[in-house]
Amino acid sequence: MTIDRDFLFATLADLIRINSINPTLAAGGQGEAEISDYVSRALTAMGLEVRRFEPEPGRISVTGTLRGSGGGKSLMFNAHYDTVGVEGMDDPFSAAVRDGKMFGRGSYDMKGSLAAQMAAMKALVDSSTKLRGDVMFAAVADEEYGSLGTADLIRHVKTDAAIVTEPTAVRICLAHKGYLWIDVETKGRAAHGSRFEQGIDANMRMGRFLAELEKLERDLRARTPHPLVGPPSLHAAMLHGGGGLSTYASSCKLQIERRTVPGETEAQAVGELQQIVDRLMAADPSFQATLRAFFVREPFEVAKDAGIVQALDRALRNALGRAPEYMGDTPWMDAALLQSAGIETVVMGPGGGGAHAAVEWVEMESVVQMASILAEAALDYCA
Ligand SMILES: [Zn+2]
Repeated sequence: MTIDRDFLFATLADLIRINSINPTLAAGGQGEAEISDYVSRALTAMGLEVRRFEPEPGRISVTGTLRGSGGGKSLMFNAHYDTVGVEGMDDPFSAAVRDGKMFGRGSYDMKGSLAAQMAAMKALVDSSTKLRGDVMFAAVADEEYGSLGTADLIRHVKTDAAIVTEPTAVRICLAHKGYLWIDVETKGRAAHGSRFEQGIDANMRMGRFLAELEKLERDLRARTPHPLVGPPSLHAAMLHGGGGLSTYASSCKLQIERRTVPGETEAQAVGELQQIVDRLMAADPSFQATLRAFFVREPFEVAKDAGIVQALDRALRNALGRAPEYMGDTPWMDAALLQSAGIETVVMGPGGGGAHAAVEWVEMESVVQMASILAEAALDYCA
């Protein structure tokens, strides 16, 4: 497939110059309104069927569909266009080019991917190839915070497969971790600091829980690692207990983050923590605690012999003339949401660095490679 490099790099620079900072994450964030207009116009100019979704004011996702003739399998390219904030960056919207890299907030995470998806759609349109299945471009809102965009999108559209184009240095990513957020509260009895016979110290009791939690944490990392994403882990992220120096603490609250690997369930991960509470309560009736998971993001894994993975494998060989590398990654991605909606999903995007850091860039040649691979994958999968 012939990729229009001028279009690709001009589009990438335009996308970087638009402030699309997630407004939930940083003051001054403009959200997706302006960038969604830009993307909608470009997709409309290509002759694609454009739809807009706005689950909350200004939080807009856009799709552009190239309709097939019917009877083929459908494929979605999925990229988020929100970014994190720009604190500490010298010139976050510059789109400056040096040494084959384009710089700026979101260049790597993930406007390079977005531009590659747009160039892939343009290559398919320009080639006038007749596919049987639909090819859908999706640019989604709010991945960096609550995944409002993809969560809403899967209520309105369905494809057979999806390629999430989060950056992977042009490797095929088959798995990522999930996570759970868990509240633990130990209960004490408030009393004047001089009245030890009346007080029950909730902070001291949380100390017992933390000592056991540390043992579990070591145990998790000693387990047989998942071959692509490594072992599970947890950390005691936030702790708050007590109300005054001369008062026995009546309550101590802890928030734990537990990172899960494919194959682990929420029930199992929460059960291991509940066992600690149960043991400590059995050992001392003055130990009282509650535990509750309040947010869950599932881990993601796709089989290497899945149809979309095989199509992407062949597409990469066609586009680059070499065999692909496979990987797993640790951060959670929208891939898990798409997979759970019954859309067979895989992850692959360009190379670069500095996601969420003060200097961010994307390797421009890898963006061209991605555009070419995505177009080839559509030719293969949607034929
Ligand atoms: Zn991202």
